[in-house]
Amino acid sequence: MIMPKTQRKFCPFCKKHTEHTVEIVKKRPRSKNSKSQRSFERKLKGYGSFPKPNPQGREKPTKKVDLRYKCNVCGKKHIVGEGFRIKKIEIK
Ligand SMILES: [Zn+2]
Repeated sequence: MIMPKTQRKFCPFCKKHTEHTVEIVKKRPRSKNSKSQRSFERKLKGYGSFPKPNPQGREKPTKKVDLRYKCNVCGKKHIVGEGFRIKKIEIK
């Protein structure tokens, strides 16, 4: 998929439609005490069975892209939705 670099989108800070530049955010290192880590520690304390590993060979063929829209008027970034699954994306 080829995505245009500038798009007219609604800016929640300006409260109107403005030009936005699109960028893909790369995966950042997780913090040590993330939500999944905390829930795992809760499991180890007791209650419920031990968490099983995810079944192998059933990974999803695509990854979700994390898009950020930067408003060209106020310069603030925001996201629209949760992203979507796509094999290949290019911003031009
Ligand atoms: Zn704005």
